[in-house]
Amino acid sequence: MKVLDKKVALITGAGSGIGRAIACLYALEGAKVVVSDIDEQGGNETVRLILKEGGEAFFVLADTSKVMDHQKLIDETIRRYGALHIAVNNAGIGGPLAPVGEYPLDGWDKVIGINLTGVFLGMHFQIPKLMEFGGGSIVNISSILGMVASQNSPAYVAAKHGVVGLTKSAAVEYATKKIRINSIGPGYIDTPLLTNTLDQETIDAVANLHPMGRLCQASEVAELALFLNSNKASFITGAYYNVDGGYLAQ
Ligand code: NAP
Repeated sequence: MKVLDKKVALITGAGSGIGRAIACLYALEGAKVVVSDIDEQGGNETVRLILKEGGEAFFVLADTSKVMDHQKLIDETIRRYGALHIAVNNAGIGGPLAPVGEYPLDGWDKVIGINLTGVFLGMHFQIPKLMEFGGGSIVNISSILGMVASQNSPAYVAAKHGVVGLTKSAAVEYATKKIRINSIGPGYIDTPLLTNTLDQETIDAVANLHPMGRLCQASEVAELALFLNSNKASFITGAYYNVDGGYLAQ
């Protein structure tokens, strides 16, 4: 028996990075996976990777900042797999880099729209369905920047702090309804986005911000997301867990 056998799991932003790693791991552990993203090509590639390993998945194009896309995502999930037990609200962007006084106002709206409102909308549509199918579990992807600040990313920092608060709020509201909701705070991830855009000196400097002296792997975030969305975490709700090589311990 695999950890997520008979479970239906919906993952946003699953066409790349952390979301893809979670989708692939959940499928390996027996879940039927709804892969969602605004990047159709990336999303279909994740589905291909899952099918290649003998898993079950399909792709739904959805922008998490849009209300109607969440409705479509839930409708497609139920139409195809007949239930919903697990969700991971992972889709997110970095946004512009500037201090508050110079931060582009449209950039603020965009980052908050995806990174915070997108998570609220996700849970708003997911929770009634989880209740309908006997309860379930949600993981929201925050960041180490959900606990501390970093210069020149005010919208990102505010949104990720917001995700931690929103997670706690929803967790206590649904604690007696068989729904657990937790958030995860990854450190800086070893992705092409980072490694292709920064020079080696900067990558080393970012890696050294973590006491373990290296970047985080998306697969290390996926392992925590698997635990939290499994029955092994049956008494854990409203919690924030960091996967950060000691970053927040400093
Ligand atoms: P990623 O590799 O860029 O993957 C994110 C995926 O989400 C991309 O496919 C992206 O599509 C998609 N996406 C963007 N906006 C969307 C929207 N409105 N609706 C649906 N999908 C959308 O990023 P990642 O590093 O895996 O990050 C995943 C999550 O982890 C984010 O919430 C991020 O804030 C968080 N996180 C990341 C790090 C890090 O160091 N990378 C650290 C801590 C936390 P496009 O590529 O087309 O934009």
